[in-house]
Amino acid sequence: PLVLGIETSCDETGIGIVRGRTLLSNTIASSMDEHARYGGVVPEVAARAHLEELQPSIEAALAESGVALEDLDAVAVTSGPGLAGALMVGIGAAKALAVSLGKPLYAVNHLVGHIAADLLTGDEIVLPTVALLVSGGHTSLLLVRDLTTDVELLGETVDDAAGEAFDKVARLLGLPYPGGPEIDRAAATGDPNAIRFPRGLSRASDLDKHRYDFSFSGLKTAVARWTEQHDGELPVADVAASFREAVVDVLVTKALAACADYGVPRLLLGGGVIANKRLRDVALERGAAAGVTVRIPPLSLCTDNGAMIAGLAAELIASGRRPSTLEFGADSTLPVTEIQVAETVAV
Ligand code: ATP
Ligand code: MG
Ligand code: FE
Repeated sequence: PLVLGIETSCDETGIGIVRGRTLLSNTIASSMDEHARYGGVVPEVAARAHLEELQPSIEAALAESGVALEDLDAVAVTSGPGLAGALMVGIGAAKALAVSLGKPLYAVNHLVGHIAADLLTGDEIVLPTVALLVSGGHTSLLLVRDLTTDVELLGETVDDAAGEAFDKVARLLGLPYPGGPEIDRAAATGDPNAIRFPRGLSRASDLDKHRYDFSFSGLKTAVARWTEQHDGELPVADVAASFREAVVDVLVTKALAACADYGVPRLLLGGGVIANKRLRDVALERGAAAGVTVRIPPLSLCTDNGAMIAGLAAELIASGRRPSTLEFGADSTLPVTEIQVAETVAV
């Protein structure tokens, strides 16, 4: 099916068009620059930016793919999780588009969309797979048995998301927002073993209850204490490299533990933090050593985008799922197990 997907859960206005598992266009407009001076995403600013960007982005995506609106088989939209106001803008646009075109509408889960992104790489996705989603808002470890019916949440962060930790530690080190790329740059000349920062929820006593959960607030506090104690003579490169190593180590260790526990030798990475080269390298290296195939979609499919939303809807359609009713709204805390919301009841 030919599907247009709309993603507005955070600061990216993403419009994607797919034909089944073939990616036709993927336009992403970010309002990041507008948030940078506030040191984080401002919900109202994000919602207004979506309002301004949606129309031109839809037009750009149609032009890029050579698709006419009338040719679409369906419209898809993120219904959650994310910022309520930002989500609402995309949902309103998607409903208007679907109703005016007389096309079915699929309201889908943003997190499952991040996994569906991997369908669009052209390589066969083998299931089941363990998936690690790491972004500014989420750090989740999932077991995906079937993309349209069976996504299990194994664990998630109990406090900050991994990207959020990068952003907060960057601020501690006097680096600008967003912090991920800045820490990466600063870490390039640092020694990752200079300081042994804590690996959250990794002690033997944590592992029965929190084997697949993450915690980054203790790490952030440890970095804060360390920087205070070394005020005036702060080796920024070493702190950045050591902090990054702690985050990467715990992410990869727990993801590979899940692969081993469930006997699933496949790990899929997704989310904006995958931009971190050290994370990709360590995952590939330790994955290979453990006999686990690690898949990493291109970054344009890892950060928030509309193509993954369209791709997930195309998959739902292909498996015979009915469209959503028009009654759904934004659900800022939609659980990952709800792959599609408001599916129409068969009559
Ligand atoms: P969500 O997808 O959960 O709604 P989001 O939109 O904030 O949240 P993304 O756009 O996927 O998430 O990713 C943004 C996050 O990725 C930011 O926290 C940013 O600091 C982080 N990030 C970007 N590049 C890097 C990098 N090279 N290393 C580490 N983190 C990075
Ligand atoms: Mg973002
Ligand atoms: Fe996301």
